[in-house]
Amino acid sequence: MNRTINVLFASSEATPLAKVGGLADVVGALPKALAKHAIEARIIMPLYKIIDTKKFPITKLGAGLTVEFNSEKVNVDLYTAKLPNSEVMVYLIESPKYFHQGAIYFEKSVYHEGLTEVSRFSFFAKAVIDLLPQLKWPVNIIHCHDWHTGLIPALKKIAADNNPSFKTIKTIYTIHNLANQGKWNAAEVIRSLGYTEQVYPDFSLTDNQGNINMAEQGINSSAMVTTVSPTYAREITTPEYGFGLENILSQKSRENKLVGIINGIDTDHFNPEKDPAIPHSYTANDLAGKIINKADLQKELGLKIDVAVPIFSFIGRLMDQKGFDLIPLITDQLFDHDAQLIVLGTGTEKYEAAVRKLAENHPASVKAIIKFDAGLAQRIYAGSDFFLMPSRFEPCGLGQMIAMRYGTLPIVNATGGLRDTITEIAGDEGNGLVMNNPEPKELISAIERGLDLFSDKASWSGIVKRLMLQDFSWNRSSLEYLKLYQSLVK
Ligand code: ADP
Repeated sequence: MNRTINVLFASSEATPLAKVGGLADVVGALPKALAKHAIEARIIMPLYKIIDTKKFPITKLGAGLTVEFNSEKVNVDLYTAKLPNSEVMVYLIESPKYFHQGAIYFEKSVYHEGLTEVSRFSFFAKAVIDLLPQLKWPVNIIHCHDWHTGLIPALKKIAADNNPSFKTIKTIYTIHNLANQGKWNAAEVIRSLGYTEQVYPDFSLTDNQGNINMAEQGINSSAMVTTVSPTYAREITTPEYGFGLENILSQKSRENKLVGIINGIDTDHFNPEKDPAIPHSYTANDLAGKIINKADLQKELGLKIDVAVPIFSFIGRLMDQKGFDLIPLITDQLFDHDAQLIVLGTGTEKYEAAVRKLAENHPASVKAIIKFDAGLAQRIYAGSDFFLMPSRFEPCGLGQMIAMRYGTLPIVNATGGLRDTITEIAGDEGNGLVMNNPEPKELISAIERGLDLFSDKASWSGIVKRLMLQDFSWNRSSLEYLKLYQSLVK
């Protein structure tokens, strides 16, 4: 019989406690899928002020604990919670000094009430290592997610010099999006951790401006690096997608240490058959509810109520990465066909302004909702016909999978995980419409192909059904993580 492997997920986000994007969805779902195998995965994250402890009850595990950081002993309390509908334990670190400002990230400026994001997450990394013995749970692997946890593998190495119980712990670093790296003055960061430059294992990696790079630290100091799709694993070894880290990622010595494992989605949470966020449930075999949801959505958003009109939606960060600049360029084609456009998201100011203006000028056919709203997102996935994801790069992308789960046809640019999950519809094959480049003419052509399919009602419902019957659960990918964990602790 396989022995249980204990894996601690260190992360800045986890659905549904604190979510900004796909990172949260992965961290909130993969531990549940791993529980079906011989893996006990628990999560450790900050107790941000925005976490709703009425909705997610917490229990105190340890009080009066301290973390040494920035030349002081910082008082912290440790809490636990459970991921809803599961036995997955979440450790929450409470520190008013480091986790009470703003939301999860400081999006509008580097500083928030005198604190930097780098300082917040350097403290988090130090706290994870200092508090590890307090968990009273023997950790085999610390699985670090994105730059916010990038210092943990190096800190673990230092801790192992003085504490033999750290020696056997392995570390994995997962790249969710290489565009975010966390850079700051190296001397300042290392001093805040309480180390000298001589002790710190990868200090030599500072760049010529004297900055340390948290993502690079994670990549360099962990036993294994993963990313969230096979295509992205290849792409990040090239200058176009490597954001300056392509050289370290393409080193020969790293060949077997960088793997791409495609994300899944939590198919219990995203389930049109029992999703409390959507008014009418439906299944692949009975799509009537989807049509009523569509009319309800048009009503909720003040659009013309007509289920014969195709709805195109975009849900996500309004950023260059997501190809959002293309959206305002395709509206003529949409209006020529009497189609409707729904945008839910926040992001770059110029894109927020552009889409607001578009909605003001076309109130019956464009609706822009500039906020984060998980329930509305689900109603949009359910009520739409097409889901737009013309990303310039996309490590994995979850929106396209969630859309399919709700029977909505994705239109994607062939990059990263979108390339790995979506193929062009051709007869009875395929599950989306694929652009070969993030260019307006490619998007327009995909939309026109989509409208042709939509106009043939009989075959359209066959397509919707086919999308809903695909398996994008974590079943397959959790087995790949299982194998990876087993290979590290054998
Ligand atoms: P990324 O992680 O790059 O933002 P993904 O496609 O991997 O993109 O995941 C985005 C997740 O966040 C999806 O679950 C998507 O539905 C959700 N999301 C993004 N923006 C919003 C928003 N404004 N309101 C609600 N959910 C959102």
